[in-house]
Amino acid sequence: MTERPQPRPGILEEMTLPEIEAFEPEIVVIPVGSTEPHGPHLPYGTDTFAARAAAEQGTVLANERGTPALCYPALAVGLNVNFGWPFALSMKVPTFTQLLTDLCEEIESWGVRRILLVNGHGGNTAAIQAFQRNWAHRGCAGMPGAEDHAFVCSVLRRSPRNSEVVRHPSNHGGEAETLEVLAVRPELVRTEKFDEFPFGEPALDILDNPRLHWVRPWHLHVPRGAGGETRDVRPEDADKLQALNAEWIADVICDLCSLPWSARYPYE
Ligand SMILES: [Zn+2]
Repeated sequence: MTERPQPRPGILEEMTLPEIEAFEPEIVVIPVGSTEPHGPHLPYGTDTFAARAAAEQGTVLANERGTPALCYPALAVGLNVNFGWPFALSMKVPTFTQLLTDLCEEIESWGVRRILLVNGHGGNTAAIQAFQRNWAHRGCAGMPGAEDHAFVCSVLRRSPRNSEVVRHPSNHGGEAETLEVLAVRPELVRTEKFDEFPFGEPALDILDNPRLHWVRPWHLHVPRGAGGETRDVRPEDADKLQALNAEWIADVICDLCSLPWSARYPYE
């Protein structure tokens, strides 16, 4: 008989009221995902599955290491207004930053002073950073009342050590994301659809310069819904990559909690 999975400490959706009442998290972790096309081989939920897995597994590891961390449910709707495909779910930037503000204010009201946003979707990054900048305006380290204001940090769910496993980098639907879904929802990967997916290039070379910023129409950037080489994907790498991502998020959680809270956090 296979062993029944147990509720995981630190995963809010899996905890009960008495467990939560007895739990004093030093940090709340929020996975921020997206629901959008990822080519013919990966499901719409790819970014949400990946952000959730990294955040939840990182939280479990952090708790095992003695850092009480609480992981929120994953946000499955992100920013996809630049998509020409059906049911690429999106809210607009002000709604998104307001949602993050409401969640973080509530976390703050429960007395938690560290918040980590684990981002699974590149389209969310700039708006998450805009939210953080706006959040700092309420009062930050060294300012009056700073001890009452939560410190908010955001991080990409993917380990900086990804290149040890991933041989074909891509910013959407490539080898890395395929491995991440294989690790957590293998039944959703259409392996028979693996291919080399082309990237569209703007006709203006200047727009390739990283000093310029513009919002790519995603359906033109990755015409098949994904970009990069996936024919080479080695399913045996999936757990290796996922373990790196979980370790990465656990390290970030534990590091953020290693300095005691003060009105000058994260300065001494
Ligand atoms: Zn993705």
